[in-house]
Amino acid sequence: MFYSRIVETYAKIEATTKRLEITRLLVELIDATPHSIIDKVVYLTQGKLYPDFLGIELGVAEKLLFRALARVTGQAESNVATLYKKLGDLGTIAEQLFKDKTQVSFQREALSVEEIYNVFNIIAHEKGQGSIDSKLKHLTSLLGKASPTEAKYITRMALGRLRLGVADMTILDALAISLGRGKESRPTLERAYNRTSDLGYVARTLATGGMEAIESLKVTVGRPIRPMLAERLSDSKEILAKMNGECAAEYKYDGLRIQAHVSAKEITLFSRRLENITDQFPDVQQLLKNNLEGTALILEGEAVPVDQSTGELLPFQLISQRRGRKYDIEGTIKDIPVAFYPFDLLHADEIDYTDRPYLERRERLRRLIRKNERLDLARQKICNDPVQLDEFMQDAVADGCEGLMIKSIDPFSTYKAGARGWTWIKYKREYKSEMQDSVDLAVVGAFAGRGRRGGAYGALLLAAYDKSNDVFRTVCKCGSGFTDKDLDELPKLLEKYRVDHVHPRVDSKIEADAWLVPGLVLEIVGAEITLSPIHTCGMNSIRPGAGLAVRFPRFTGKYREDKSAEDCTTSNEIVEMYRAQLKKVSESPSAEAA
Ligand code: ATP
Repeated sequence: MFYSRIVETYAKIEATTKRLEITRLLVELIDATPHSIIDKVVYLTQGKLYPDFLGIELGVAEKLLFRALARVTGQAESNVATLYKKLGDLGTIAEQLFKDKTQVSFQREALSVEEIYNVFNIIAHEKGQGSIDSKLKHLTSLLGKASPTEAKYITRMALGRLRLGVADMTILDALAISLGRGKESRPTLERAYNRTSDLGYVARTLATGGMEAIESLKVTVGRPIRPMLAERLSDSKEILAKMNGECAAEYKYDGLRIQAHVSAKEITLFSRRLENITDQFPDVQQLLKNNLEGTALILEGEAVPVDQSTGELLPFQLISQRRGRKYDIEGTIKDIPVAFYPFDLLHADEIDYTDRPYLERRERLRRLIRKNERLDLARQKICNDPVQLDEFMQDAVADGCEGLMIKSIDPFSTYKAGARGWTWIKYKREYKSEMQDSVDLAVVGAFAGRGRRGGAYGALLLAAYDKSNDVFRTVCKCGSGFTDKDLDELPKLLEKYRVDHVHPRVDSKIEADAWLVPGLVLEIVGAEITLSPIHTCGMNSIRPGAGLAVRFPRFTGKYREDKSAEDCTTSNEIVEMYRAQLKKVSESPSAEAA
């Protein structure tokens, strides 16, 4: 298959914002793809070479691309760099330079998908001495054979910024139509994806074994499972009603969710976003190695920082400092040790426990763990009375937790990978504002700072995720809560998300100074949720023509690096929060008196 066939689709995808049209284009592309390379085409379309959990990234440095483009187009390297400073997207620059025929004096040769993938694969694995020269040689040889459009996408891909805006779910839709039994196969494919976290693998399994092979895909040790998520409620009576009168309440620890895969050979730890974080938590690895009965296990738990001397739980922020730190892990482990609280079991004894009810999973988990002061099952109580639930909530808060996770104990309480549902409900202590809870919002735009913030960003445009339409809808402009250090670091942090114009998956009525691919997620508290004529979150769901906004938003200081943009608070949740707020106001004594 020629690479030109794929980039033809990419160019059309970039020219539309309609999800149905994108799906149709992908169906055509999959129809035209030989089954033997379907996984490669899927990965390339996602802008990667492997599933994220393997952590193999292309990420060629900009400077190296300046050099490669200069070599191939006969431009001075400094010219390419200047154009980049001015225009910001090296892909478009590459395309322009290649279009200028007078500057291009090379012979074109058709590039195949296999060649593109293989060369990128070599580049991704190049390390150590001589790797820069070798990467340059490979890039130059690819670009030397490329058309202007191919050069654009090769450049973006090499930088790790393909940014087509194609969501995983759209690829699943297209696979269902092209290779499955039509659209109705999508839930089955989604289930397979949720259990393997690898779209290329799902595509290959489907292409070679059909829907039968997809239906029998099992969870496997070493391949992370997309985490099950909770809905939220703020009233113990309502919670018990939802749970048919009885539930299991567990402490909701304020730490970092870890999915541990334990085999006879090794222990691998994955974050909530399914990145491999084993190197950052050798202490958790050791705890599990020494204290688990059994091999071939997948379990989930929360790692929480603890005070050395008192054993008290400490704030989450202290553990987030470990993330991304490649150095001095030993020192950090000594200063801020962690405790690990397993709360679920997904695989053991060659059995896929995700299909078993909660109480069975919990019981098997209990028998697996030899507990000590750093390792213990999440504290749990079976409750059937709101007063009992509220008392347990107070215990949890007094012990340094965020609140409770309420879990269904009915026979259908299976582990629903990748899904947010009412089988789990989070019940958090109230924040001191009217808003019952913090929200996690995706940064989709930024505004230049003025005065003291001149030269930096002064405020960010934040959005909630509209899952059913797969777009991000704005909900506030937030400029408070940022420390000077945050303000200094934000431009650098956001650089990799910058795009020239509003991203196709962002719905905004507001013009920002800089537009960003939804990627960075921030935790925000606010005074309340209000109706808004300018924000697009929940548009028309409460009143025609009105969206919803977070009033007086403030950054809590928590960068939710453990969340991808699609994991942020949904617009439906914001609508629910608005409704809950109205209900609270109408039930308050002052409202009754009025
Ligand atoms: P939040 O923003 O409230 O941290 P979230 O969006 O990350 O939540 P939710 O499903 O909404 O994810 O809340 C569940 C989170 O709570 C889990 O991801 C996990 O990190 C944490 N947690 C702490 N204790 C438990 C527990 N006992 N059972 C399940 N999850 C727990």
